[in-house]
Amino acid sequence: MFRCDPCDADMEYESVSIEVSIDGKVITVDQPGWYCWSCRSSRHSAGDLFTLDQAIEAAVFG
Ligand SMILES: [Zn+2]
Repeated sequence: MFRCDPCDADMEYESVSIEVSIDGKVITVDQPGWYCWSCRSSRHSAGDLFTLDQAIEAAVFG
């Protein structure tokens, strides 16, 4: 469990749909990570970001 730096609330590990704009395309990615719902900040491990990398690669090259 992480605490949020800006507001000190508990963060929750969830997968959240985010939109990423890449090469003129907008793709939706289910991005896992720690999210604070009080101030809407988030933090991601290297593994979490690997998910995003793969989704972007699939959109660009796939
Ligand atoms: Zn917060």
